[in-house]
Amino acid sequence: MASDTSQEQPGKITGRCYCGARVLQADQGPEAVAYCHCMDCRRLCGAPVAAFAAFATDRIAFTPALDEGFSTTPGITRWFCRTCGSPLAATYAYLPGQIYVPLGLLDQAADLPPRLHAHADARLTWLHIHDDMPRIEGSSRDQLKAAHRT
Ligand SMILES: [Zn+2]
Ligand SMILES: [Zn+2]
Repeated sequence: MASDTSQEQPGKITGRCYCGARVLQADQGPEAVAYCHCMDCRRLCGAPVAAFAAFATDRIAFTPALDEGFSTTPGITRWFCRTCGSPLAATYAYLPGQIYVPLGLLDQAADLPPRLHAHADARLTWLHIHDDMPRIEGSSRDQLKAAHRT
């Protein structure tokens, strides 16, 4: 029997947008979970800091499937629910093989604590998060890339 105090990640991930028109499912936990303090993420999520889970692209499925997406920045593609507007996912050309999902969409978010702060230099100065996790200036792409299991 598994212990109730296990720190292991949930084996199966489920989630949905605010209205439920888009659902997602992954057969294993994310490769990385991170806060992002950049201004783009703040605008996208409407929150003072965003948090994302990175999944291997071939281990997560959206229903209905994601379309071609939307891009305002070369190399970055984003998807939103067309009904409720929730951000659903993003891919970055410099992070191949991964897709980034807002942590708040996931039913298992309580069991998926972030492990680092990306763009820590862009943090809103009145926002104080007390933890001992790494604070990376810039995108933390090296750490996120390293987490990708090929
Ligand atoms: Zn929706
Ligand atoms: Zn960001």
